Amino acid sequence: MGYMTSASDKEPLKPSNFLRQAIERDLEQGTYAQRHWSGQPADGATQLQGPLDAAKIRTRFPPEPNGYLHVGHAKSICLNFGLAADYGGVCHLRFDDTNPEKEDTEYVNSIIDSVRWLGFDWTQPGNDKPYQASDYFGFMYRAAEYLVEAGLAYVDEQSPEEMRANRGDFGKPGTDSPFRARSIDENLNRLRAMKDGQMADGAAVLRAKIDMAHPNINMRDPALYRIRRATHHNTGDQWCIYPMYTFAHPIEDALENITHSFCTLEFEDQRPFYDWLLDKLAEGGLISQPHPRQYEFARLNLTYVITSKRKLKQLVDQGHVSGWDDPRMPTLVGMRRRGYTAAAIRLFNDRNGVTKSDGWIDYSVLDIALRDDLDPKAPRAMAVLDPVKLVITNWDELHGAGTLDACSAPVHPHHPELGKREFQFGKELWIETTDYEEVPPKGYNRLYPGNKVRLKYGHVIECTGASKDANGKVTEVHASLIPDTKSGTPGADAIKVKGVITWVGASDAVQAEVRLYDRLFAVAQPDTGDKDFLEELNPDSLKIVTAYVEPSLAAAKGDDKFQFERHGYFVADRVDHVEGKPVFNRVAGMKDGWGK
Ligand code: ATP
Ligand code: MG
Repeated sequence: MGYMTSASDKEPLKPSNFLRQAIERDLEQGTYAQRHWSGQPADGATQLQGPLDAAKIRTRFPPEPNGYLHVGHAKSICLNFGLAADYGGVCHLRFDDTNPEKEDTEYVNSIIDSVRWLGFDWTQPGNDKPYQASDYFGFMYRAAEYLVEAGLAYVDEQSPEEMRANRGDFGKPGTDSPFRARSIDENLNRLRAMKDGQMADGAAVLRAKIDMAHPNINMRDPALYRIRRATHHNTGDQWCIYPMYTFAHPIEDALENITHSFCTLEFEDQRPFYDWLLDKLAEGGLISQPHPRQYEFARLNLTYVITSKRKLKQLVDQGHVSGWDDPRMPTLVGMRRRGYTAAAIRLFNDRNGVTKSDGWIDYSVLDIALRDDLDPKAPRAMAVLDPVKLVITNWDELHGAGTLDACSAPVHPHHPELGKREFQFGKELWIETTDYEEVPPKGYNRLYPGNKVRLKYGHVIECTGASKDANGKVTEVHASLIPDTKSGTPGADAIKVKGVITWVGASDAVQAEVRLYDRLFAVAQPDTGDKDFLEELNPDSLKIVTAYVEPSLAAAKGDDKFQFERHGYFVADRVDHVEGKPVFNRVAGMKDGWGK
């Protein structure tokens, strides 16, 4: 498929931001114009054998395959793939799988699916597999030996406690390790001993030799390699030493010819080491030049949502939700199942833009994007979520016993070409229980004895009362039909009514399970301060009702989205919905009513 398609098909004008400015400056100055690309991630010498890199810029989305992607990752995906597309570049999907313990192919597959679902494509001519950082372990080790040989790294055999104590802190410089002054030969031997399995887990680390008094603690001889006997999902037992993230990540970027490496703000303090390392490797001729640069942006913080993979896993493992794809989860699989569309998520991200300082986005912004995406295209349907029977007491007299009257409505009010839905009016109908009040509150325009309302797309009726059970619960609402008021017939509007209510016919309505989802947390910031997020769960985040829906919905397929008139946006559940046993999820209401 080649290069990326645009992330945003909706809002063509994209405001500038500091990341765009950085890219535009590099393009203007031709910073990366002379890079070569062999067609694969590779060291500097190999890249030089290839032609000039046709990609104007290269960005990457580098998830660690230790969980499912969430709405925060979507920001990074939209940003990296979006910028690459906008500037004639390429965005790589790279699994940052340098940590052997927590990674799993289940996560790898789901990440691939989610990136594709969001509408992005990383494939390039001759190369359709995502990249894997673990494929670079060989080069990383070579880079480690190079640093040792250049006198820029040493094997430290202090205990972890000593190392911590000697690091100093914000106000106090660190202390040199007694192993810091080892000769290059000795360091090389010890590094090889680490690699060859001659040392126990944790017995030593390879550290960069920079400055133990550096004001930035990340520059106080950071660890590059640790010993860890663990089976890796890609490399098996080939390695017993694994690179640290801070060492691995810049190298991954460099081997892939990344030009602009975008990450979240918490990595700002790592940037000096990113540059130190790549400067040294470039001087040694190991990587392409000029090397990539890191830029930081503010992560997405969304109210009522937590985006820590570890905590999301806790929700799944402890059964607070039904799984990673529970429609209340902010995972992309969960949001998809809930009915959020990829276009809505892209729109949401475009509207949020990128900034250099942290802030919160209100959850309603996501729902607004969803409505803006679905309103122009979602087919309409009527559904009664909390049904009570309505009996038209003069139906038999006016229309004849057992007769039905076909009514219709447009599939979409602005798209007549989509045709009409048909449903039957008759003596017995279903209406919302809340559409009848024996004693109407002030301003109530729906059914109460003596009041007239229109049944949408049908007739005007006048309420005559209701029957109740022994507990006073309304079992049946009664009304009489006013003749010659059918919607769309001449003179139908002669009788003015204040209320219009939705309904479905008892003869042709389809019973459906409707899952009314609400926010998973009851407070806007469940994971801040000293709150325990598990105590902030919203007890009403799921309510399941048996509803009656209009017959057109019998043909719905899993994943089809609708606007249920009055109620909001619903999707046929992609897992549980089957023909004959429909299941719909509420994505979002018609308007933002939550917490108000
Ligand atoms: P978590 O803390 O939930 O485990 P992570 O940042 O460790 O998330 P990674 O798989 O390492 O997850 O992230 C892949 C990319 O997604 C990184 O570049 C990271 O910065 C970005 N990312 C993760 N969360 C957010 C967020 N809330 N907003 C923007 N980008 C994010
Ligand atoms: Mg991470």
